[in-house]
Amino acid sequence: MTSPYKYDIQPAQHFIDGEFCDGVAGKTFDTINPTTNETITTVAEGFAEDIDRAVQAAHRAFHEGPWHDMSAKDRANLMIAIADGIEKHGDELAYIETLDTGLPITQARGQASRAAANFRFFAEMATRMTGETYPVDNAFLNYSVRKPVGVAGLITPWNTPLMLATWKIAPALSTGNTVVLKPAEWSPLTATRLAAILRDAGVPKGAFNIVHGFGETAGASLVSHPDVQLISFTGETTTGQEIMRNGAATLKRFSMELGGKSPVIVFADADLDRALDAVVFGLFSLNGERCTAGSRLFIERSIQTEFEARLRERIAKIRVGDPFDPKTEVGALIHREHCSRVKSYIEIGQQEGAEVAVGGQTPDSLARGNFVAPTLFVNANNDMRIAQEEIFGPVLVCIPFDTEEEALKQANNVKYGLAAYVWTNDLARAHRVSNAIESGMVWVNSQNVRDLRTPFGGLKWSGIGREGGHYSFEFYTELKTIHVSMGTTPIPKFGMGE
Ligand code: NAD
Repeated sequence: MTSPYKYDIQPAQHFIDGEFCDGVAGKTFDTINPTTNETITTVAEGFAEDIDRAVQAAHRAFHEGPWHDMSAKDRANLMIAIADGIEKHGDELAYIETLDTGLPITQARGQASRAAANFRFFAEMATRMTGETYPVDNAFLNYSVRKPVGVAGLITPWNTPLMLATWKIAPALSTGNTVVLKPAEWSPLTATRLAAILRDAGVPKGAFNIVHGFGETAGASLVSHPDVQLISFTGETTTGQEIMRNGAATLKRFSMELGGKSPVIVFADADLDRALDAVVFGLFSLNGERCTAGSRLFIERSIQTEFEARLRERIAKIRVGDPFDPKTEVGALIHREHCSRVKSYIEIGQQEGAEVAVGGQTPDSLARGNFVAPTLFVNANNDMRIAQEEIFGPVLVCIPFDTEEEALKQANNVKYGLAAYVWTNDLARAHRVSNAIESGMVWVNSQNVRDLRTPFGGLKWSGIGREGGHYSFEFYTELKTIHVSMGTTPIPKFGMGE
């Protein structure tokens, strides 16, 4: 039978010690096309034995062999070769991502470019890594150096899986660590393709490994493995809590990038045309499956009627459908289970008394796949579950406010604190609100535009720690201090008798 796919899609195997391989137990699970709910291919299912093999390979590569001996400059060149490889296979990676996740192809292409950019960026950053000196007159020269930590366990979610994996792999490898990646079980394919790109770029065996499988088995074994020094996790808050509990016994270092319910505050004096564009893009791009999505829209009451009317018009016109169609703006949600969860929130919102102004239904013509029409809730309030809980789909909740103080109070009245967006042309207010809002990141008069140098991360239930720029190095390196005596510092003499 000829393959229905544009590119060759092979069963996804683990990648351990430089080789693709099946799991020790020989078990597999299916990865499903979210657009049709048909099986794409099988995926090796990893357990503790597979994790152990991968960690041992990573441990060996960290302590001996070509990776251990490689200079920072050579590692940087390798990162650049990986970026070149990703760009060369960008169309294929985007295709596989769309097939496996339902992400519209134009956006998947953007994610593939960003994956390459992550490697280029950290290649350059790592060669600029410096320490500090602490001279003590003529007595001591003390200085600090950054050293790789060891075996990095990377655990990634199913949303934008290629981009998020590279966001962790690039800083981990460029600083000299070795890696075991556990990709999300619902979107394993681009990570597998990436492994071949890393191998072909010349990454020595054992430096980069992948074990597929489920969180409670493969993921949990990685977290509890004594030879894994750190865990960089992106995913749900409750999973992060579980991982921290499981990693405590082996004293893991954690970076936690967790859930969000980010506010957008639109004041009446803002450029409303641009605010409208940003609100619609900020929530409905990436199918609404975006951790920094502006999912709670606070709108000043004097412009509420007009802004909501414009929102209805725009949201109703968002093109939903085949993610391979370059015109599609919202594709299929990752999995049937997730789709049901998003739909259940649409019911919950109505039961709570909010009104569906647009969407709410799955278009009949798309019933095979996991589609949800872009949905706008109005007549909502901040206490409703749809305003407090992360829906992680194409559902926007609109809430009016009368004063700046009230807007801030509502925006902050949520357990999450990842991103926030403020729209106003009042300079003082822009700074005041940004300063008072409880979130790790704020964008003023803009949608989420990433600057890779800036710290990325959340507060409250949205995470612990920051990655990005040199902040990634604080996580992926150990800071060692070396104290050198330059003279005859007095040494107390013990054991001299009288
Ligand atoms: P998830 O927490 O269900 O799974 C994430 C990963 O953790 C998967 O690989 C899974 O297999 C693994 N896992 C599950 N249980 C585990 C365990 N006990 N031990 C070890 N690993 C385990 O998250 P998801 O549904 O895949 O992703 C969506 C979530 O990710 C959303 O909450 C979203 O906000 C969040 N997210 C956050 C950011 C950020 O930067 N803050 C970015 C993207 C996504």
